[in-house]
Amino acid sequence: MTSRLTVVEHPLVQHKLSYLRDKETPTVHFRKLANEITLLLTYEATKEFPTEDYEIETPLERMTAQRISGKKVAVCPVLRAGIGMLDGVLSLVSSARVGFIGLYRDEDTLEAVEYYMKLPDDLNERDAIVLDPMLATGHSSVAAISAVKNAGAQSVTLVCIVAAPPGVEEVHTHHPDVHIVCAALDRGLNEVGYIVPGLGDAGDRLYGTK
Ligand code: URA
Repeated sequence: MTSRLTVVEHPLVQHKLSYLRDKETPTVHFRKLANEITLLLTYEATKEFPTEDYEIETPLERMTAQRISGKKVAVCPVLRAGIGMLDGVLSLVSSARVGFIGLYRDEDTLEAVEYYMKLPDDLNERDAIVLDPMLATGHSSVAAISAVKNAGAQSVTLVCIVAAPPGVEEVHTHHPDVHIVCAALDRGLNEVGYIVPGLGDAGDRLYGTK
């Protein structure tokens, strides 16, 4: 199996990401940009959704159009920073169910610790999109992907905003089937596990907690 990583290089994504990275960007703009970038990443992440013929009538004539065929989606943000991406997905996939995955990062071990989980009951009938804005060590994403797979998700796509090589490797080591879609693949991690150059703490910048 070829593990897939898609870095969306569209100028709109890169333009918005430059503001997201800028330390002068205030919370109010950061929140809006995070959702706008996620919407554009969702466009890419859903690119292979199957479509089927659908007969419609335009005001002028009948035609065979295309509609997405029977796809059911569950969007699963990793708390808390993943919530900052949720509206971006829902604005394109409005019928999706939402599951929440509460993980925090133990600052000493950098391991993901689960504290909350509420996933849709029918996840076994759905394709999951996991939202985790910063793919740093990969521990939280791996734990979140394991959780949705254990609950039966048919497939998993991980959408993040900034990824670092160790995180991508960690996810693909544990979950080689998962397609990762991101806006940037950064240089690496610093000594405390932050992505460099990165954008700082996504949760703090979304919610103005620091
Ligand atoms: N989480 C963040 O919010 N930022 C990083 O750089 C790494 C993990």
